[in-house]
Amino acid sequence: MISIEGLSKTFGGLHACDDLSLSIEPGSTTAIVGPNGAGKSTLVQLISGVMRADAGTIRLGATDVTRLAPAHRFSLGMVRSFQTARVFPGMSVLDSVRVGAYYGLFYASHPFSVGSTVRDAAASLLRLPAWRARYREAERHALDIIGLFGERLATRLDHYTYTLSYANRRRVEIARALASRPRLLMLDEPTAGMNPTETEELAALLRDIKAARPELTLIFIEHKMNVVRQMSQRVVVMDAGRIIADGTPEQALNDPKVIEAYLGG
Ligand code: ADP
Ligand code: MG
Repeated sequence: MISIEGLSKTFGGLHACDDLSLSIEPGSTTAIVGPNGAGKSTLVQLISGVMRADAGTIRLGATDVTRLAPAHRFSLGMVRSFQTARVFPGMSVLDSVRVGAYYGLFYASHPFSVGSTVRDAAASLLRLPAWRARYREAERHALDIIGLFGERLATRLDHYTYTLSYANRRRVEIARALASRPRLLMLDEPTAGMNPTETEELAALLRDIKAARPELTLIFIEHKMNVVRQMSQRVVVMDAGRIIADGTPEQALNDPKVIEAYLGG
């Protein structure tokens, strides 16, 4: 699914990502762990295209995406959430998730090109029925996805996202990502700021989603080891921009190098 070779990113003299190579199987769930400042978020920024790598290549299947813009990677099914939830503050819950659903549908039938969505909007004035059908399907799909989160979002469909609790903004962000029907979903600390009950709920939800869509490839950064253990087949441990351990949760988390990195960090 995703293969990374020799990926590097420096900030000043700091190697946030240091000649890193990693290959991830389609349909797998991989946790990325490591002390603060290890380079985990940087890795997700590089894979999603929010940051450009200084060196190295990133491939999605056979496609070299290293130089593609984030929107182009999104159109190929590479979707992510941020460590600090980023939602559209002046949009309702339903609209926010519908945006994800709409563009997921849009790109399923249109190859990416710069400005394509703007051109589509203009052309749609002439093809109003097609546009309306996609809009309605996006709404149905958005409501289905919102429904997975139970009452927490479903009772707040018309609430502006800036009025939501932190945990709910995070749910909206994850719902928006899921609604676009990603092939590769990257979540940067999805349970950050959630209490143990909310964390357990989100972990169960992500497990259900994976069970329903076995072809989905999931990469998530997580500090809570109980979540890591229950969700992932594979744990990749980073420290100082490098991978210091990689294996099953048991292998990776009990590696002496990993214990040392945590104690030293
Ligand atoms: P993690 O997510 O593992 O905590 P990050 O990827 O956020 O780590 O950061 C790795 C290192 O790169 C840290 O030392 C951090 O301070 C630095 N860093 C991250 N983003 C930037 C940036 N935009 N500018 C400068 N330094 C950065
Ligand atoms: Mg981070």
